[in-house]
Amino acid sequence: MAIGPTSPLTHDSAIVIVGGAGTIGSSTALHLCRRGYKNITLLDVYGFPSDYVTYGPSQSAGAGDINKHIGTSYSGTRGEISDMTMDMWRNDPVFKDYYHEVGELTAASLPEHIADLRKSYKAKLNHPNKSEEIKWLGDREEIIAHCPHLANGLVDGWQGIWTEKAGWGAANDAVDSVGRELRNFGVKMIFGQPGTFGRPLIDEATTRCVGVITKDGEKHYADRVVMATGAWSPSLIDLAGQCVSKCWIVAHLEVSEEEARRYKSIPVVYNGEVGFCFEPRFIRHHEPGKDRWIIKLCDEFPGYTRFMETTPFGAEEPIKVSVPRSHSAHPTDTVPEEGMRRLRRVVEVMLPEFTEREFVKSYMCWCTDTADAEWLFCQHPSHPGLYLATGDSGHSFVTLPSAGSQVVDLLEGKASAERMRRWGWRPGRGDPEGTGRGGVAPKDLSDLDGWAHGDDERAE
Ligand SMILES: Cc1cc2nc3c(=O)[nH]c(=O)nc-3n(C[C@H](O)[C@H](O)[C@H](O)COP(=O)(O)OP(=O)(O)OC[C@H]3O[C@@H](n4cnc5c(N)ncnc54)[C@H](O)[C@@H]3O)c2cc1C
Repeated sequence: MAIGPTSPLTHDSAIVIVGGAGTIGSSTALHLCRRGYKNITLLDVYGFPSDYVTYGPSQSAGAGDINKHIGTSYSGTRGEISDMTMDMWRNDPVFKDYYHEVGELTAASLPEHIADLRKSYKAKLNHPNKSEEIKWLGDREEIIAHCPHLANGLVDGWQGIWTEKAGWGAANDAVDSVGRELRNFGVKMIFGQPGTFGRPLIDEATTRCVGVITKDGEKHYADRVVMATGAWSPSLIDLAGQCVSKCWIVAHLEVSEEEARRYKSIPVVYNGEVGFCFEPRFIRHHEPGKDRWIIKLCDEFPGYTRFMETTPFGAEEPIKVSVPRSHSAHPTDTVPEEGMRRLRRVVEVMLPEFTEREFVKSYMCWCTDTADAEWLFCQHPSHPGLYLATGDSGHSFVTLPSAGSQVVDLLEGKASAERMRRWGWRPGRGDPEGTGRGGVAPKDLSDLDGWAHGDDERAE
């Protein structure tokens, strides 16, 4: 069957972004608006995280979270846009109020991990784009000098990289700010079931994608469709095994105002053998009198998959895909027992004062990994007009200000040959340069106890 060309892209072209309230989707919409495109429609299961601004009910998107680490990256082609990203976090009116530059410690204690960090430290020192202050912290004393709150922590033997110009972003508020900007630009937004992707509309004669059908049966015709559906992408479109969705676990500790004061502005502390945590954040609740101070922490491990048979668009028969199960759609789910033990360990190691304190909330948060941890930003090989903007690989929130510029470059045919090669459709390429997550294979949730509660299969 002949594959037909797409219509030329103009500022009046109809562009549909599926997953438009997530990190990469909202960023794409923002850059389209800033480049003068006028006919943009966002589709998403959930709206902009104004409801996450409260101590919110939803954790569907990776972006619907109270804080995420923000810092310079030197890995892969994302490293090439890192300076632009950080500049936007610091100076762009849409983002600057949501970036907190409190510094960051990236540490390890096992010799092989320390050796890896040393390598990455040297690479950072030699990198031509180096624009930040970094230091090697070689012992406990130096660690405590930069992170005094770890004085009672289990940090003997820790060494690592101190980065002055890094910190955290108020993830939900930053995405919400993008949403407000998009509303100011007049972007059309459709959420809930009418915004939920059903399948692409394909012109049979040319195989071109000419829009999408949403779950309510509505047809949305478009000149370009961008699928920015994060961890849900491989269960919606057959990606030929290029993305594997995995979850990690987030927990919240409530602290008093006095405790929050003591932990105010602590650096982000990350140890790949344990997990990471952030300074307390004041969270407004939608019910009066329930505002609280929350410390967010996450575990670090190879992630969990959830493989099952499903038939994404493009697959001729059911295939095995790791399908996310979000807390938003399944609010009674808890987390696997072993995950809970890992989270308790994060507290013991990094925040020992709170070892006995119960978490007020815990949930699983989903990302989708490519083998080499590079994005999958490309046109679908069989359906011109259908673009993939996914493959976040667990570290794309930081690129909220800039990821969309790369997607728009792709739509406009301006992406460099090298970026198109790295981010292109690449089944079976694997991880030739060793840039992927590597490590042991993730466990599957079906093999674990203690997480699924109820069988409410509401729409994801
Ligand atoms: C525990 C944890 C901690 C993390 N910490 C960090 C960090 O500190 N720093 C960092 O940079 N990154 C971090 N990440 C990764 C980061 O959150 C993701 O890389 C990023 O948010 C992914 O962006 P995305 O746009 O691909 O997906 P999302 O932001 O998840 O957006 C996908 C969107 O698609 C929508 N969608 C799904 N299905 C459909 C459908 N059928 N129809 C319509 N819409 C749909 C969703 O509702 C969502 O809005 C973390 C991730 C996890 C899990």
